[in-house]
Amino acid sequence: MNRTIAIANQKGGVGKTTTSVNLGACLASIGKRVLLVDIDPQGNATSGVGIEKADVEYCIYDVLVDDVEASKAIKPTSVENLYAIPATIQLAGAEIELVPTISREVRLKRALEEVKDDYDYIIIDCPPSLGLLTLNSLTASDAVMIPVQCEYYALEGLSQLLNTVRLVQKHLNQDLKIEGVLLTMLDARTNLGIQVIDEVKKYFQDKVYQTIIPRNVRLSEAPSHGEPIISYDPRSRGAEVYLDLAKEVLKNG
Ligand code: ADP
Ligand code: MG
Repeated sequence: MNRTIAIANQKGGVGKTTTSVNLGACLASIGKRVLLVDIDPQGNATSGVGIEKADVEYCIYDVLVDDVEASKAIKPTSVENLYAIPATIQLAGAEIELVPTISREVRLKRALEEVKDDYDYIIIDCPPSLGLLTLNSLTASDAVMIPVQCEYYALEGLSQLLNTVRLVQKHLNQDLKIEGVLLTMLDARTNLGIQVIDEVKKYFQDKVYQTIIPRNVRLSEAPSHGEPIISYDPRSRGAEVYLDLAKEVLKNG
């Protein structure tokens, strides 16, 4: 059985891309076949796994807007067992170009159906918005993982996201589950982080992952080397916690 997980939060800078890249790479390192789908026009997940944008012939834009087969856009990455559908800045136009198209919310789902059986996990790195690209991602997924930064206003904006999830469940994808809330960028030296953990756990209860991602400078350095943390610095705390997260995700099915 395979699973598709969207990593979503309309807030920027909460750790979506870091989680997509490193969860994907850790699942791959455990021997799972993983497809990372970059659906953010910034394309940070694409460069984070070592794909040069200049070498990209077909990106997710071509798949969504021009009906190019997903298999044509899939590229190998710097990690064994980890493949990716890249995004380039061309995708920035898709949010508007998709508006008048037929079945605009189900395009990603249909495109991935053709390749789904080749992978154990498909991880989708969503953009920081609740527009058509995120709607396509939620419609194509079995579950959504929501990274939340351990900061002031951590819960702000989450009700909009949960509302969008409910609308997708009602109209587009009744099988979509909230797989969990992932606490990220915890600074263990401050009380604030602990307060945020308590607050998020009170609200989401057992939906919060046991693994909490601390701030780790190696995690922020790895993308500029085009490598996930497990290959950039396998002994770092960052590598350890993302491996823990991968094991937790495996346990969930
Ligand atoms: P998003 O995709 O939600 O916008 P990113 O994953 O790109 O967020 O993270 C935002 C910034 O924070 C990036 O520069 C990233 O390298 C850094 N970052 C993310 N997680 C961590 C972490 N656990 N420790 C240190 N830096 C992090
Ligand atoms: Mg991102």
